[in-house]
Amino acid sequence: MFERVLVANRGEIACRVIRALHELGVEAIAVHSKADADSRHVHIADRSVCVGEASNTDSYLNLANVLMAAEITGAQAVHPGFGYFSERARFAEALEAMGVTFIGPPVSAIEAMGDKAKAKEAAIDANCPVVPGSDGVAATEGEATKWAEQIGYPVLLKAVAGGGGRGIRRVNDEEELGRLFRTAQAEAQASFGNGDLLVEKCVVEPRHVEIQILGDQHGNVIHLGERECSVQNLRHQKIVEEAPCAVLDPDTRRRMGEAAVRVAKSVGYTNAGTVEFLLDSTGSFYFLEMNTRIQVEHPVTESVTGLDLVQWQVRIAAGEPLPYSQEDIDLTGHAIEARITAQDPDKDFAPSTGKITRWEPPGFGGVRLDTHVYAGFTVSPFYDPMIAKLIVTGRDRADAVNRLKVCLDEFNVEGIQTNIPFLRRLVRHPDYVAGEVSTAFVGRFLAEGQEG
Ligand code: ADP
Ligand code: ADP
Ligand code: MG
Repeated sequence: MFERVLVANRGEIACRVIRALHELGVEAIAVHSKADADSRHVHIADRSVCVGEASNTDSYLNLANVLMAAEITGAQAVHPGFGYFSERARFAEALEAMGVTFIGPPVSAIEAMGDKAKAKEAAIDANCPVVPGSDGVAATEGEATKWAEQIGYPVLLKAVAGGGGRGIRRVNDEEELGRLFRTAQAEAQASFGNGDLLVEKCVVEPRHVEIQILGDQHGNVIHLGERECSVQNLRHQKIVEEAPCAVLDPDTRRRMGEAAVRVAKSVGYTNAGTVEFLLDSTGSFYFLEMNTRIQVEHPVTESVTGLDLVQWQVRIAAGEPLPYSQEDIDLTGHAIEARITAQDPDKDFAPSTGKITRWEPPGFGGVRLDTHVYAGFTVSPFYDPMIAKLIVTGRDRADAVNRLKVCLDEFNVEGIQTNIPFLRRLVRHPDYVAGEVSTAFVGRFLAEGQEG
């Protein structure tokens, strides 16, 4: 096992990784920006290094400074968390060159999955169904139009390098495609440094269901079941996730799991990863993309499997073999995660910043709170608005939904606006309570709110 690991991230995920390291008896080194000097991840780390000014590009995304922090502290490995450098092949490569272990998949697997067009090719090669779409990149408006006609409108234009729900545009007809293609290309170039777009069939009201993978360095790859992530905001960002998915039958779960394992194996995947699928109303599923990192919603899988995914990331990177085969993985109970964000639901979810004057989260059994904030913490405008994740576990879905309602009611935050009042209404919606959700659910829920 490593003796000392650097955590190249901030926020709740940095705290989560530090906890896992400490439970493994490993020294944890934090990096932080000047604005984050008083964040909980700095408090709980054994040591911390300031890597720059408040803005992400000056600090957490400052490659030279983060590499330097690993170098001067003598870290043997780096955990990248999610976002930031977690899916940057160049980062993993640079660490490798320094003789420092990147806690994640091999560079080649990051590269194979980092481009949505290439990732779909890999999925096809692994005999995994994909969403119908262009055969690779659509380089010109003319090509895109041809593909769209072949696939049938509506289609999506997707930045191959996109992520976090960004770089996706719905196109309803040929006229729109002509109008949007160049803008989408320019936007993708500006946001991701890569203007390449693919065309994809827009699946109507699908569910987003994803499979968690774990692979060790000895050829063993298993899946840990699925997560239902259909409750997404209008920008395709997940808000509430759960495990298991209410409508997945054992046979579909097995087939989806096996498809995900095949995809992972086909690119030589090791460590934790997630294969995302769309599930349509007929029960057919289609590969969407693979995220080559730990995911925000990993705690719901931890709850139903009893496995610590972050500890396993570290153990796998240190060379430990997985002691489980697929048959050893049992799913027990039901878990739901709600992302708590510093956003004002009454102002179109505009970021809300400032000092948290009261922080009274729920407690007791079946509740987990992953967070880096506390009463007195100042939420700054520089970072992602997610300030906590509330995870509840129940005997079954009804029990978990009920617990989530009660916990959201108890959760009291003052000083800033949060999405908690919005979440309280959302989890009471009859469709949510019944588990009848698709990626169109939140849009409909918001529209209903405006009418009433
Ligand atoms: P998940 O698939 O784990 O739910 P998200 O899409 O919510 O992941 O993204 C995880 C985190 O990483 C979010 O906090 C998001 O802001 C950040 N993120 C995702 N993609 C990018 C990106 N391309 N650049 C910067 N941050 C990103
Ligand atoms: P990102 O890298 O931003 O996470 P994804 O390809 O995973 O991009 O898509 C994000 C979300 O966008 C999905 O969860 C889904 O809600 C929606 N989406 C993506 N592709 C399609 C599609 N072909 N049809 C319908 N919805 C889609
Ligand atoms: Mg995705």
